Amino acid sequence: MERTPFYEQVRDRLIRYARVDTQSDRRSSETPTSKKQFDLAYMLRDELVRIGAADVWLDEAKCVVYGRLPATAPADKGMAFGLVTHMDTAPDAPGAGCKPWVLEDYDGGDILLNPEEGIIMSPRDFPNLLNYVGQDLILTDGTTLLGGDDKAAIAAVMTMAEHLLQHPELPHGEIALGFTPDEEVGGLARDLDLTRFGVKVAYTLDGDYLGYYEDETFNASHATVTFEGRSVHTGTAKGILINAAEMAAEFVSLLPPREKPQFTEGREGFFHLVSVQGNVEQARVDLIVRDHNAGLFARREQLLRDLAAQLAEKYGPERVSLTITPTYRNMKEVIDQYPFLVENLTKAIRLAGLDPQSIAFRGGTDGSALSHRGLPCPNLSAGYENAHGRFEYVPIRSMEKNVEILLHLARLFGETEA
Ligand SMILES: [Zn+2]
Repeated sequence: MERTPFYEQVRDRLIRYARVDTQSDRRSSETPTSKKQFDLAYMLRDELVRIGAADVWLDEAKCVVYGRLPATAPADKGMAFGLVTHMDTAPDAPGAGCKPWVLEDYDGGDILLNPEEGIIMSPRDFPNLLNYVGQDLILTDGTTLLGGDDKAAIAAVMTMAEHLLQHPELPHGEIALGFTPDEEVGGLARDLDLTRFGVKVAYTLDGDYLGYYEDETFNASHATVTFEGRSVHTGTAKGILINAAEMAAEFVSLLPPREKPQFTEGREGFFHLVSVQGNVEQARVDLIVRDHNAGLFARREQLLRDLAAQLAEKYGPERVSLTITPTYRNMKEVIDQYPFLVENLTKAIRLAGLDPQSIAFRGGTDGSALSHRGLPCPNLSAGYENAHGRFEYVPIRSMEKNVEILLHLARLFGETEA
């Protein structure tokens, strides 16, 4: 496979970043959830300074790195935009001691990740591997994740930035760069200071499958229902005992039986029972609600209120309480007001020789939250595979392609009226 001039840059960057353990921590309530994310934040800050970015700043309290590529387009031309990527890796697989390595010219067979432990990755288990025959892959040793999620995106963004800074003759508007912590634990880029970031539109880069983008996510909330029972000796319980655990079970049994993640796809929403805890005295049901459609989403939340009210009527209002906490909202209602965002992105993907693909994402992105905070923010895929696990890998060509896409995007925004 022919290499572009960016080949070594993206390869070396991802390897360097992957060696830094930046796993976030679901159980922590600190900011960031793990201090080790600063190890990469310092590295990126220094790198931005070295390549000549402007306004480089690390927020030492929040662990967010900022940088800026000043506009090179004539003053009346060139629209500013931002790029947001996340520095942390998922807590779902070991992250420390990552030993990335490169397999050149993949032949389509089994890959021996770890000779000592006999760990093999096979296209029988991971058929997507066959899309990359003849390509060079960055792999793990089978004992940790790689962290290509989202460091493959960081590598592409940095490489684009360095190229543009070395070539001021390429016209583009101002480009703001933001590197954030804790995406994998629901951080939602909360601590990205939009005033400092200073642009009106942006893209996140995250997700698998090269050439994909997302402008539509779930609406999401978390619901907690608590039940108060009355426990007495079972021998003398008649007419007195009220069993909280049974109330919880009754509540769960009233949920629509087929509207669950295991039975839904595409734009079908669901209720997902996350946990049930309890005993006779007290019980608690936690669930999450998801739907792309805002109207259907509101109806789902209303159903939970109705069911809670139904049990409250049966057992007493003091025995049932429901709290619904919004998590994020579908970005689409915001993004649709800025059609050039998706137009420029799909154009850039096509100019890089790829066929842009979009799916209604069955999840949320940092961009869902940013969009509703006033920074419309579709997502461009970072191009990694098998994220969050020991078999994660990144085809180097996918990162090279993303650099190309970003350079086209920069040029297209450079031609957009400011
Ligand atoms: Zn990610």
